[in-house]
Amino acid sequence: MDKLLESSAVPMPEAATLAMPKERLIALVKEMKKQRGVVILAHNYQEGPIQEVADFTGDSLKLAQFAKTVAEPIILFCGVHFMAESAAMICPDKKVIVPDPAAGCSLADMIVPSHVRTWKKEHPGGVAVCYINTSAAVKAECDYCCTSANGELIIEAIPAEKEILFVPDYYLGTYLKTRTGRNIDVWKGYCPAHAVINPEEIDHLRDAHPDAEFLMHPECGCLTKQIDLADQILSTDGMIQYVKKSPSTTFIIATEKGILYRMRKDNPEKTFIAASEHAGCHHMERNTLEKVFRSLVTLEYPVTVDPEIALRALVPLERMLAITERARAKQPAETISLYEDDWILAAANDLR
Ligand code: SF4
Repeated sequence: MDKLLESSAVPMPEAATLAMPKERLIALVKEMKKQRGVVILAHNYQEGPIQEVADFTGDSLKLAQFAKTVAEPIILFCGVHFMAESAAMICPDKKVIVPDPAAGCSLADMIVPSHVRTWKKEHPGGVAVCYINTSAAVKAECDYCCTSANGELIIEAIPAEKEILFVPDYYLGTYLKTRTGRNIDVWKGYCPAHAVINPEEIDHLRDAHPDAEFLMHPECGCLTKQIDLADQILSTDGMIQYVKKSPSTTFIIATEKGILYRMRKDNPEKTFIAASEHAGCHHMERNTLEKVFRSLVTLEYPVTVDPEIALRALVPLERMLAITERARAKQPAETISLYEDDWILAAANDLR
């Protein structure tokens, strides 16, 4: 066994791993995760070496679905804080750790629980739908959760006459309002990494690459100015699947630029161009392979959710997963309704 692994009960100095060739560190992390009974989940935006050591990579929805199936006792979640919180709530019997506790989400920080409570009071009877990019405490105030992959499905599962209060992403909410034609009030939050992608840059790239297909994430700000700007509007996982199947060979990708690593790896014969070189998420970039290794050694940093908040936040989360699963199984989504007398809702209502 590698000498570094033998001595790994002591946290390694950061400098030792920084000086190490990446391939060696990747091999060490793979060995260490087996020894420690750790499964590594990584978001599509994570840096390449982290995706190399991950047992599963995906978008927020796929990661939440996968977390439910994990057998190992410890999940090392490489993404941002709200994702690890979701895994901790969905898998209460697991220990969930993250490589850097400061990796949060600027979009999630744009709303707090008191905002939702006040908004609901101003709109009695309104149904609060939160994007998964929210803290557990905000989810606990909401009725349904959604991701960019299943937003339409979730909105359509809500009774048609209901007013919907959507938090926190203005662009995704506006997109869902346009797509579904539903009565949706939208909170004015945004993701800085997606907000920097601008139509002028895209026009320039499209002129330079006339045969390229242009794929856009619904968090992008320019979507509201010109909804038909993109050839496809997709979640990150939707993009990853789409580029594999499309006969096109060049793609302009409008989302956080970390996604290009996986696209290039999966499709070496195709060309991928970032819609903006500035579309990087400084929170996602906090996680590094060196920090992943350190977490495997120290089993830090744990992410936990207050049990009372978790019980309430599980209501919108579990509804989202159930609606998505029923749609996949081709069962009507409206069978999971706001009014269904399920145990989790009853328990949460007791706590509200
Ligand atoms: Fe949050 Fe935007 Fe970073 Fe995603 S890319 S984690 S939405 S700040």
